[in-house]
Amino acid sequence: MANVTLRSVRKTYPGGFEAIKGVDVDVGDGQFCVLVGPSGCGKSTLLRMVAGLETVTGGEIDIGGRVVNQVEPADRDIAMVFQNYALYPHMSVYNNMAYGLRNRGMAEAEIKTRVEEAARVLELSAMLERKPRQLSGGQRQRVAMGRAIVRQPKVFLFDEPLSNLDAKLRIAMRVEIRKLQRRLNTTSIYVTHDQLEAMTLADILVVMNGGQVEQVGNPLAIYEKPATTFVASFIGAPPMNLMSMRPDEIRSQLNGVGEAGILGIRPEDFVITDQTPAGGVALPLTVEAIERVGAETFVYGSRQQEEQRVAATPGELPPGEVIVRIPGTEAPAIGQNIRVAAVRQKLHLFSGDGRKRIE
Ligand code: ATP
Repeated sequence: MANVTLRSVRKTYPGGFEAIKGVDVDVGDGQFCVLVGPSGCGKSTLLRMVAGLETVTGGEIDIGGRVVNQVEPADRDIAMVFQNYALYPHMSVYNNMAYGLRNRGMAEAEIKTRVEEAARVLELSAMLERKPRQLSGGQRQRVAMGRAIVRQPKVFLFDEPLSNLDAKLRIAMRVEIRKLQRRLNTTSIYVTHDQLEAMTLADILVVMNGGQVEQVGNPLAIYEKPATTFVASFIGAPPMNLMSMRPDEIRSQLNGVGEAGILGIRPEDFVITDQTPAGGVALPLTVEAIERVGAETFVYGSRQQEEQRVAATPGELPPGEVIVRIPGTEAPAIGQNIRVAAVRQKLHLFSGDGRKRIE
C-alpha cells in the first residue's frame, strides 16, 4: 500500500521566502493526484519535497505509512518523470531504461525482463537500440516513462511531463498516461499548470494558489462547485464569468444575505433567449466578437452601460464583459443585440472577497 499523506507541509526557502504555507493532502493507494495552479504557486516545490529533492521546513510527508522527511530520495521508493526527459544522449533506449536498475545492482536477466515488458507496454520494442536523438518528442517522453516504470516504484511523480510536446501529442500522451496508470495502478502525483490536463487525469485534484491549497476533490465536483472565485476562474475554459453584485442586487435577485457578493456563471450555462427563467438571471448583450471553433461558438459580449440600466428589469445583471458558449450551429452577428439567460441552479454565488462560496 502506498498512500501519500502531506500534513501541514511548509517550505521556506533559504532567504526567507515562504513557498508552501501549510498544505494537507491525502492521496490514497493507486490514486492519481494532480497538483494544478498558476506559475509560482508552489506545485513543483511540493512535488520536489515528496521526491526528497527539497528539504521540508515544516510538517510531515508520509509515503506508505512511513514519515520520509529525513529519508534520502533514493530510499523513498519513488520514480520521477521530468519535463525535459533527462535522457542520456549517448545511451540506447534500452540502456537508458536499464541504467537505474544496473546502478542498484540488479541481475541482467531481471533487467532484461523489466525493460522488455516496459517497452512492450509503451510500444517502444522496435526502438530499443536507437539513441534519444533518433526518436520523436513523444517517443522520448515514453522512454522517460519507461525508466520510471522499470523501477516498479510505490509512487510515480510527474513534473509537467508533457509541456514540451505539441498540442496534438500532448492529448495523445495524456490519454496514454491515464491508461498506463490504470493498468499499473501505481499511486501518482502529477504537476501541471494546464487545467484541462488536470481535469482529465485526476482522481483527486488539488488546486493551489500562492503556496496554499484552494480546493481538493474530485475534478467534476470542483468544476460544479468551486469553493472560491480563484478556483471558479482557473478551472474551466473559457473561464466562469464573474460579476460584482451590490447588496440590493443580491437581495432582489438571489435572496442573498444583504452583503455585496460575486455572481458566477459558466459560459456554457447561458442560452440565448428572450425569457427570464424563474429565479434565474438574464442580461442583454451587444455582441463584440465571435469565435467559431466547429462544435461550439464563443460569443464575447458587453453588457449595457450603468446609465442605461437605471430602469433595468428584475433579473438583469450589472454591466461588463461576458463570454457565452453556444452550439456551433448558432452564430449571432457582430454588433447584434441579444439577450442571454441562465437558470437558478447554474448560478454560483461567492462572498465579496471571492474567498467563500455562499451557494
Ligand atoms: P511553475 O509552474 O512556474 O514551475 P510552480 O507552481 O511549480 O511554478 P515553484 O517552482 O514551486 O512554482 O515555486 C514556488 C515559489 O517559490 C516561486 O515564487 C519561486 O520563485 C519560489 N522558489 C522556487 N525555488 C526557489 C529557491 N530555490 N529559492 C527561493 N525561492 C524559490
